Amino acid sequence: MGRITLDKVAKSFGEVNVIPPLDLTIEDGEFVVFVGPSGCGKSTLLRLIAGLEDVSGGQIRIDSKDATHTPPAKRGLAMVFQSYALYPHMSVRKNIAFPMKMAGVDQAEQDRRIDYAAKVLNLSDYLDRRPGQLSGGQRQRVAIGRAIVREPAAFLFDEPLSNLDAALRVNMRLEISELHNNLKTTMIYVTHDQVEAMTMADKIVVLHAGVIEQVGSPLELYQSPRNLFVAGFIGSPK
Ligand code: ADP
Ligand code: MG
Repeated sequence: MGRITLDKVAKSFGEVNVIPPLDLTIEDGEFVVFVGPSGCGKSTLLRLIAGLEDVSGGQIRIDSKDATHTPPAKRGLAMVFQSYALYPHMSVRKNIAFPMKMAGVDQAEQDRRIDYAAKVLNLSDYLDRRPGQLSGGQRQRVAIGRAIVREPAAFLFDEPLSNLDAALRVNMRLEISELHNNLKTTMIYVTHDQVEAMTMADKIVVLHAGVIEQVGSPLELYQSPRNLFVAGFIGSPK
């Protein structure tokens, strides 16, 4: 399960109030995109959900359990980092196995999950290579594989495609959407790219200076933007 509820969640860094108290519910299995201009608090909000930052106030629930002060490794969520976070000296198999090794998963179960991840990501023929011998897209898939084997309640992506070239970005966008169709696991995806938001999301959360301007499906935001900011942002892809 992967239902995530934020109740008056707030964050300040010292004097700087980055996220005033906000409420948000993410339903199990939803593909939710946080979109907004650079510096609006997208990464901060994702890191609060992941537990990589402590909230300044409010409550985070994951599947109706209070997770506000649960350490990141115990939240059952998996953050997908950009592909350059792979270990260059390890094979693809070892890179994917790494989080399971840390968690003490037994070898047979590790192999089962690696086979599964490699199959859904089309990496079966590349398990013995090193990241340096792969294309950018393949490396990004390995980074996703490392999240899949943790069997998380939700995947958290922070601009995972921003260091890929334009053509590859389009490809990976489709692959991640397809992965969501296959796994049906909750995904929260942060981007400043309106096209990614409009094409990938079940539900878009538009952020502006830490405030949620609107939550809705791509069609709802396109047809009935609540204010000029949403209209301008959704209406003018870069
Ligand atoms: P986004 O991901 O939307 O570009 P961020 O969440 O990274 O935005 O940042 C939101 C705001 O919070 C920015 O003004 C940023 O400078 C500030 N911020 C983020 N992390 C920290 C931190 N660790 N200490 C102080 N300020 C921070
Ligand atoms: Mg960011």
